[in-house]
Amino acid sequence: MKVPENTVEEKKKLNFIEEIVEQDLNEGLNDGRVHTRFPPEPNGYLHIGHAKAICLDFGIALKYGGKCNLRFDDTNPVKEDVEYVDSIKEDIKWLGYDWGNREFYASDYFQQLYDFATDLIKRGLAYVDDQNAETIAKQKGTPTQPGTHSPYRDRPIEESLDLFERMNKGEFEAGARVLRAKIDMASSNMHLRDPLMYRIIHIPHHRTGDTWKVYPMYDFAHGQSDYFEGITHSLCTLEFEVHRPLYDWFAEQLKSGDYKPKQREFNRLNLTYTVMSKRKLLQLVQEGYVNGWDDPRMPTICGLRRRGYTADSIQNFINRIGYTKFEATNDVALLEHSIREDLNKKAARMNAVLHPLKLIITNYPEDKTEWMHTINNPEDDSMGDREIPFSREVYIEKDDFMIDAPKKYFRLAPGREVRLKSAYIIKCEDYKVDEATGEVVEVYCTLDPETKSGMPQSNRKVKGTLHWVSKAHAVDVEVRLYDRLFNNPDPLGNKEVDFLEHLNPDSLTVLKGCKVEPELAKAKPLDVFQFQRVGYFNVDKDSTPGHMVFNRTVALRDGWTNKK
Ligand code: ATP
Ligand code: MG
Repeated sequence: MKVPENTVEEKKKLNFIEEIVEQDLNEGLNDGRVHTRFPPEPNGYLHIGHAKAICLDFGIALKYGGKCNLRFDDTNPVKEDVEYVDSIKEDIKWLGYDWGNREFYASDYFQQLYDFATDLIKRGLAYVDDQNAETIAKQKGTPTQPGTHSPYRDRPIEESLDLFERMNKGEFEAGARVLRAKIDMASSNMHLRDPLMYRIIHIPHHRTGDTWKVYPMYDFAHGQSDYFEGITHSLCTLEFEVHRPLYDWFAEQLKSGDYKPKQREFNRLNLTYTVMSKRKLLQLVQEGYVNGWDDPRMPTICGLRRRGYTADSIQNFINRIGYTKFEATNDVALLEHSIREDLNKKAARMNAVLHPLKLIITNYPEDKTEWMHTINNPEDDSMGDREIPFSREVYIEKDDFMIDAPKKYFRLAPGREVRLKSAYIIKCEDYKVDEATGEVVEVYCTLDPETKSGMPQSNRKVKGTLHWVSKAHAVDVEVRLYDRLFNNPDPLGNKEVDFLEHLNPDSLTVLKGCKVEPELAKAKPLDVFQFQRVGYFNVDKDSTPGHMVFNRTVALRDGWTNKK
C-alpha cells in the first residue's frame, strides 16, 4: 500500500520505527506489505512494558493497513502455562487490539524447526555436543578472547543425526547433550560462537504434550517463526540487537530468497518505583507480597485495570513516552498523570467520606430530607446531573475540622463558616470531645437557609467548601488506599540489596466504615468515580451488594512529592 498522506506536522511526530516502515513502503519492500507480530512468552502476565510493545506492533499494522499476529513464544515447557495464554489474550483485547484469526504458537512450528535443524546437521552446519552446559560455557571465551572448539564439533554428520534423533526419542537425560549451530568460535559477536539450538527437556508441553523431548532455543525458534509467518517488521527491545546477526545467519541458511523479516529494536519501558521483570513479579505473587497478579499495586495490565486505569490512559502514556534507541527510565508520575487526565474527563464526581466525623445541623428539622441538585462532571455536561439527599446529620472528613485552627485553615473551626457542596453555608457553633481519647466526636453547626445551593445568597463568599454525606442515607463501604509498592525509585539499582528490602510497608491501607452517598450503591465492578476532594476510585471485584469495596486509583494530586 501507499504511505498515508501526512501533513508536515504529523510527519514530525513519526517515531523512528514508523520512519523505517514508511521508507520501506516508499521503496516497495515486500510489495508494500506490512506484517508485524506481538510475541509474548506465556510465562507470566503482561505488564505495562508489554503494553509499549503491543501499542507499537499493533499500532504500526493499523496505521499502515497491515496485519499483526499474536504469537506465543512457547519454547520452554518448564515455565509456561495456559493460564498465562488466556490472560495475555484478555489483556491485549482490553487494550483495544485484535489479531483476527492469527493466533499462533512457536510450538506450531516444532516440526518445521526440527526438520530445519536436521537439514543444518546434514549440511555440516550443526552438531550434537555431548558436553554439559558448564563446560560449554567455559569454552565460550570472552568478548576479547576467542572461544575453543568443542571436541565434538567435527564429529561425523551421521553421528550427529543419529544422536539428535535419539535425543528426541527420550534416550538421554536432560542436559546430557545439546544441538549447536556450527558458526564461528572466534566471532566478535558472542552469540555467533556455536550457539545452542536445542536442549533436552523431559517435561510435557502445555500444547504438544509428550510429543517432543527436545525443545528449540528461543534464539533459534524466534527468527524462523517470523519467517514462517511472513512477518515484514519484527520489532523487539534493544537487548535483542546483538542477537540480530544470529537470526540473519539462520535466515540465510534457510535459503529464503529475497524475503527476510526485518528486525528493528526500540527501548524497553522502565518505570521508577517499579519492577517489571516477570521473574520478579512472579516472586512477589508466589511469596505473598501482593495478592495475586492482578493486585492493584502490580504493574501488570490486569493489576492496572483492577486499580481503575483505563485503556485510553495507558495508550496516552505510551504515546507520550515514545520510542527511541536509548535505554531510559520513565517517571511513574507520568503514568499517574495520564490516568488523572483521562478520569478528569470521564469520572462522575461523587461524595464519599473516608474518615467520618458526625456533624449535626441544630437548626434543621430532624425528619426532613431535601434532595439537592448537583452536576455529575463539570468537564462534561453530557454526563448529566443527579439529586443527593441532605438531612440534619451529615458526615464530613475528620481533618476538615480543627479546634485551634490557624488562620490559613480554610475548613471548619469553631465560629467559622464553610459551604457544604451543593447544599448550604454552615457555621460551627460547638463540638463534643470524647473525654477518654481527646478526639472530637461531634460538631454542631447552624445553617443559613438563605444560602441554599442555587439561591442568590448561595454565592456568598466563604473560604472553604467541604464534601459531605447525609448520615441517614449513607452507605458503609470498605476503601483500599494504595501507595507505590516500592519506596525506592530504583528497587533493582543496588545489586547488594535484595529488591524486597525496598518494599513499601504502607503500600496498602484498608479503611472500613467509610461513608458514601447512596447513588454509589448501584455501582458495578470497574466503574470509576472521582470522590470529590479525595481522589479517583473504582469498584473492586471483591465487592458484593452488601459489602462494597472501592480502590483508590490515584489521588487527585501527586501526593508523593508533597507528602506530609
Ligand atoms: P520480562 O523481562 O518481563 O520477562 P520478556 O521480554 O521476557 O520480559 P516476553 O513475553 O518475551 O517478555 O515479551 C514479549 C514482547 O514484549 C517482546 O517483544 C519484548 O521485547 C516486549 N517487552 C517485554 N518487556 C518490555 C518492556 N519493559 N518494554 C517494552 N517492551 C517489552
Ligand atoms: Mg522474552
